[in-house]
Amino acid sequence: MNARGLALVITAAMVAAWALSAMPPVQITVNSPGPAPVEARTAPGVPVAAQEAAEPPTEAASPPAIADAEPYAPSAVLAAPEEAAPFSRPGPAAIAVPGSRAIDMPILIYHTIRPGPPPASQMARWLTVTPEAFEQQLKFLKDNGYHSISFSQLADFLEKGIALPDRPAIISFDDGWDNQFVYGYPLLLKYGFGATFFVVTNYLDRPNFMTIEQLKTMIANGMAIGAHTRSHPALAGIGNPHKQWDEIAGSKSFLEERLGVAIDTFAYPYGSYNAAVEAMVKAAGFRTARTVNFGTHYTADDLATLAGLTFPIYVNHYRGKVELTAHEMAR
Ligand SMILES: [Zn+2]
Repeated sequence: MNARGLALVITAAMVAAWALSAMPPVQITVNSPGPAPVEARTAPGVPVAAQEAAEPPTEAASPPAIADAEPYAPSAVLAAPEEAAPFSRPGPAAIAVPGSRAIDMPILIYHTIRPGPPPASQMARWLTVTPEAFEQQLKFLKDNGYHSISFSQLADFLEKGIALPDRPAIISFDDGWDNQFVYGYPLLLKYGFGATFFVVTNYLDRPNFMTIEQLKTMIANGMAIGAHTRSHPALAGIGNPHKQWDEIAGSKSFLEERLGVAIDTFAYPYGSYNAAVEAMVKAAGFRTARTVNFGTHYTADDLATLAGLTFPIYVNHYRGKVELTAHEMAR
């Protein structure tokens, strides 16, 4: 068993213990019940990284036809997304640090949020949280003084030394499931947190996934959208660089055209990348890119391969670690 496998086993046991000792259920409200949440499951025949099993179902793998030849719109011509609320800005106590910068902070990775009994498969259970558990996690962040920031703010800090709020955290969601909008988004608003939603462009406006209009609603209320390719392939496994480029740059231009905002952050499907893929992500104009590797320590060299924490697998590890590293914004 490798280190990650061991970590998964250990953290799974910790999560089980945590669940047993969890606080009483919290009453929540959602804006609408929405369609029946879909059970996360794995597309057959696709190599799946351990942390990315709850991927879009196969029925969504027959995407609507999207022209490959859409003209690419450079980010520079588009306004940056409005992030004034609810992403936090630094207060008077925030520090700007000169010189080489590093930071320890959580980048949280969510997939499915829905009520009901746990999914049947272990992997899907690890990638699914109930609205009650999600609210407890947001409450933990709020009660402990955390402030949500965007990936752009992390890049601004690491590259330029632009100050971050005290106790920053990034909240991110993968794949564009509609349950994220139905159950997650209202709780983010309730607690005043911003989040970044990495969407698969071919899945938008399809059953079980968010719509373009929902993305626009979230942008108008301070959320950020990132690209997660057109069709969710394991990018490192694609031999054709033209296809890789279309998945990466094409998803960016698609979102920028439809949403009218610059899309400058990316997430690798299945956490699959290599040097060529990483170079394409940078060349396409993405400023940051997130993997599903485990980690909480970042420098400017990590901006194209940012690690993170997959809730709920690492919640206990995360709690302990952030308690130890809080305020260690930079060294
Ligand atoms: Zn994904």
